[in-house]
Amino acid sequence: MEQTHKPKALIVDDSRAVRMILARNLRELGYETGEAGDGVEALRLLTADPGGFSLALVDWNMPEMNGMELLRAVRADARLAALTVLMVTTETEIEHMAAALDAGANEYVMKPFTREILFDKLQLAGLGPLGQS
Ligand SMILES: [Mg+2]
Repeated sequence: MEQTHKPKALIVDDSRAVRMILARNLRELGYETGEAGDGVEALRLLTADPGGFSLALVDWNMPEMNGMELLRAVRADARLAALTVLMVTTETEIEHMAAALDAGANEYVMKPFTREILFDKLQLAGLGPLGQS
């Protein structure tokens, strides 16, 4: 059977505008996208379908459960071991990124970003161009 399955990315950000931008960029890079507005919702979606998402883009500052708390919860769950986590941060939060990488984030990208920067960061995280040769 021909494989038509696209990889899935979960976009986790409390800003609907940022989620929309990221979703558009990721769809252009060949992903299906899901969205969550905070860490609690994200963790619920991720654990409901372990392995369903191959990538999570995680905002730092969110209500309920912030990006670092979500990252720690993901890395503590063996079912989610294959999930690539890209932190999405602002310049004022950049000081936290060393801790995020220590806690198991694969890469981070700073807002505002272009699709090219996002693409480069995904490649650095080991995710190549999808649906392209
Ligand atoms: Mg935020």
